[in-house]
Formats: sequence, C-alpha cells, structure tokens
Amino acid sequence: MTDKNRVIIIGGGHNGLVCAAYLAKAGKQVTVLEASGQLGGAAITREFAPGFKVSAGAHLLNLLDQDIRKDLALDAHGLQMARRAISTIALDVEGRHLTFSADRVSGEGVSAKDQAAMVEYHRFMRRFAGIIGGLRNQMPPRIRTDNRGDLIRLAKTAWNIRRMGRTDMREFLRIVGINMYDILKENFEHPLIRGALSLDGVLGSFLGPRSNNSVFCALHRWSGTDGTHIVKGGMGAVTAAIAAAARSHGATIRTASPVAGIMMEHGQVQGVELDNGEQVQAGTVVSNADPKTTFFNLLGARHLEAGLVRKIQNIRMRGNASKLHLALSGIPEFTGLNQNQAGERLLIAPDIEYVERAFNHAKYGEHSAQPVAEISIASLNDDALAPAGQHVLSAIIQYTPYALKSGWPNARQAFMERCIELIAQYAPGIREQVVHAELLTPVDIEREFRIQGGHWHHGELALDQFLMTRPAPGTAQYQTPVDGLYLCGAGSHPGGGVMGSAGRNAANAVLANG
Ligand SMILES: Cc1cc2nc3c(=O)[nH]c(=O)nc-3n(C[C@H](O)[C@H](O)[C@H](O)COP(=O)(O)OP(=O)(O)OC[C@H]3O[C@@H](n4cnc5c(N)ncnc54)[C@H](O)[C@@H]3O)c2cc1C
Repeated sequence: MTDKNRVIIIGGGHNGLVCAAYLAKAGKQVTVLEASGQLGGAAITREFAPGFKVSAGAHLLNLLDQDIRKDLALDAHGLQMARRAISTIALDVEGRHLTFSADRVSGEGVSAKDQAAMVEYHRFMRRFAGIIGGLRNQMPPRIRTDNRGDLIRLAKTAWNIRRMGRTDMREFLRIVGINMYDILKENFEHPLIRGALSLDGVLGSFLGPRSNNSVFCALHRWSGTDGTHIVKGGMGAVTAAIAAAARSHGATIRTASPVAGIMMEHGQVQGVELDNGEQVQAGTVVSNADPKTTFFNLLGARHLEAGLVRKIQNIRMRGNASKLHLALSGIPEFTGLNQNQAGERLLIAPDIEYVERAFNHAKYGEHSAQPVAEISIASLNDDALAPAGQHVLSAIIQYTPYALKSGWPNARQAFMERCIELIAQYAPGIREQVVHAELLTPVDIEREFRIQGGHWHHGELALDQFLMTRPAPGTAQYQTPVDGLYLCGAGSHPGGGVMGSAGRNAANAVLANG
C-alpha cells in the first residue's frame, strides 16, 4: 500500500533539503534519502588531506535567496559568514593587479573612462539582473494554456520587462541576446577588466565570452543581491543549517541511502526502492537528482511519452569546469598581494582573448593549455579549515570538457601539474608549499556528486533552457507528467548555484496540488 501522506525526496543536496524543510514546515511527512554518506551534494565541506578541509564543489556564496534564509531561520541554525562581501582581484603576472569592489575598480592603468564605464556597467547589470532575479521565486508559466494563474504569471513577466522604461527595455533586449565579448569591448579599455568581467558569463558553463547566452549567464550570476561571501566552516555549513531547519520541522533525513528506482503502478508513483532492495512507500516523490538521472536512470523512459524522452535527451549538460584543491604548508605569496588581499576572490583571466582561446580547446574535446581560474584561499578568513599556520586553496579551473578526447584518467595528473604551474606564475613559491593536491575533473564531479555530465547547473543555463523550458517543456512547473513525481534540483528553474529557489518552488508546487 502506498503511504499517500509521505513525501520522499531523492537527494540531500541543498535544494532537496530546502524542499524538505518547506514541506515539513507545512505539515507534510517528509523523508530525504541521500546516496552519499554526507549531505549537501555539490555544496559540502570535506577533508581532502589530514587536517585540511575544503568546499569541494561550490566555494563562494553569492546567490542564496534571502527569503529562504529568513523563512528557515538559517542563521539560528548555525549559518555564519567568515567574511562578507569580499572583493575580486584580477591577477597580473607582474603584480599590477586590479581590485573590483561594488562599482569601483582600482589599480595601475585604470583610466577615468574605464572607471566611469564601470559605474555605468554596474548600474545596468544590477538593473537587468534584477529582472532575471525577480523570476526566481516564480513558478514558470505554461505557454499554451487557459489557466488563469499561468496567464497572470506570463503577464507579470512581460510587465516586469515593460516597466523598465523604453531605453532600458531596448538595451535589455539587445544585450541579453549578444555576448560578453561585445559588451565588454564596447565599454572597457583595460585588458584585465575585460578578462575578469567576462568570467561572470562563462564560469560553470560550456561558453566562451563570444558565445550567445554568456550575457544571460552573467545576469544570472549578478542576480544575487548582497555580494560574495565566504561561509564559516565552508559551504557544507550552508547545507548543515538547512538540514537542521528541516529536522526541526520534523523531516527525517537518511544518508548512505542510494535510490535505485522509482516504483510505479498504473501510472502513479508508489515510492522508491533503494540499492539494497529496501522499499519506501510514498504518494509523492520529489527528485533532487538531475533530470536525465531522474527520468532515465530512476524512473525509466518507458513511463514517458516519446516527445518528452527526446527533449530530456537533448538537454545540454556537458560539464566544463574542474576543481583544484591544494593543501599548503604556509601562506602562498602572490606577487604584489598582501595577506589580506590573498583572501579575496582571485581571478586568472588576463584578457578576454585569453579566455576565448582557452574555450577554443574545450570545443574540440581538449583541456586548455592556459586555463582560466577562480581562486579562493578560504583558510585566510577561517582558520578552522587547516592546521595552524597552514592553508587550503580551492580553484575552479574552467575549460576542462567532460568528454576529453584523451580521457581524464590519462590526462588528470599532467593537467593538475599544469594548473599548479599556472598559479605559480602569480605565486612563485607555491609549488614548494604544496603538501597535497587534488583535481576533480567533470568526470570526478559526476561520480562524487552524482551529476550526469558533471555540469554544475544540472544542465546548461541558456535562454532556451530557462523558465518555462527548464529542464524541458512539460516538466518546467516542477510537477512532471508522471502522477506524483516532481523535480526540485538545479536542472529546474531557476538553475544552479547555491540559491535554494528550485527547492522552495518545488515545495510550493507539491503543496499547491494538495
Ligand atoms: C566544481 C563546482 C563549483 C561550483 N562553484 C559554485 C560557487 O562557488 N557558488 C555557487 O553558488 N555555486 C557553485 N556551484 C554550483 C552549485 O554547487 C550547484 O548548482 C548546486 O549545489 C546544486 O544543488 P542541488 O541541490 O540542486 O543539486 P546537488 O548539489 O547536485 O545535489 C543532488 C543530490 O542528489 C543526490 N542523488 C543523486 N542521485 C541520487 C540517488 N539515486 N539516490 C539518492 N541521492 C541521489 C546526490 O548525491 C546529491 O547529494 C559549483 C558547482 C561545482 C560542481
């Protein structure tokens, strides 16, 4: 017999846990089943060498929805920042770095024209990102429908764009369809400014600065409202606070419980079966796993119409970013940076052509010879992450395609050495300080976090995979065509990043259906 009142959530990533917390708060009987021994999915802190802890997936917090933070009382459940609103530093090999803080950019060679352009760039990116951000908490409307709620949501979306006024609306519609390269070339002269800002449009995606959708991705990133923060205890502390909130409302959370399949009878969900054969009955199943895993591995394509199977197959989700972790015996010395500055967000993207060239390799199944990097040395802001006097460096290394022609097992070690060499160009003594190094390629990310393709958004973030087409038409309202089955992960609207919105919206969809 199905337990009609129980809701099972497959996966204890941060979205699964947010969903669990909202459902439990609304009085549902919720059980979360997480495959890994540790909660958090791609937002965890783990020890990668004795005494050295790192945020193994996401490492900077810039998107967490502030309403969710308040609703779930995450601060009361232990969420704390080690450093709020860090700056970004665009690294230069000779130490002539640039620093970005809010709408200011400072450093050698920044012209008055660039400075003024930065203020204007900041104004319009914030304004336009607000439109994307404003859609986060909305259930995406169905397009072909007479449903009143959907029509109101469609009208609201159009109104949000219209009310910007004619000039800004035209500019929004112009830039959202072009690319970061054109916008940054149009506005800025300094190569480091162009290189650094272009990363907002490409990090975590299969895009270069000249690709369509790169502006859209940048706006998604800019839609976070209160800066970029370093979480005390690493990103696992965000997940731990959400899990504590879910438990406080009565949710049951089980780790080391991999789900092997979703049980079905007469087209209705009956619950799930675990890898060990245990069956857990439930009338509603919400999946935090990515859409391909959910529909093909856990449900089975035979339960879906052919049209939907094709749409899910076509979701683009080829990971292109790796993660480098270094355990260091001391503070790395970057040429021209003091210790405080080394604790900011550091970028290796010397100019926009460098970034585009790095992407070129990925297009042909090669990793870049000169990759792009976003570096955080969180232990400079949080000394609990490493033994006294020692440090952890985490870096997102962009342009490392999932489907590497030579295969990652053959290439991993040499590429990791290449990445350390790259960082050593800016911090010459760092190689001698490395006590332990680890590189997670997209293939490792797929295995460790169970994300098909190792893509950090569970599917490319693009205009054709957004809102009512995310992950695919017919499943974009979190409810799937299968009775009792919902989605709540980053593959659904509004996409990836540690934000929580997909989890909260999915909970609302479940509650709306009683
Ligand atoms: C290398 C990297 C760097 C990133 N950097 C940042 C960053 O700095 N800032 C930021 O905001 N975002 C960043 N992101 C993106 C962010 O981490 C993800 O978008 C986000 O964590 C996705 O959350 P989620 O809950 O939707 O899914 P996930 O975190 O992927 O969680 C899904 C969960 O489902 C579980 N699961 C899957 N299948 C099963 C099964 N069969 N049975 C049981 N459980 C299952 C998985 O084990 C996992 O715990 C990064 C991602 C990566 C990979």
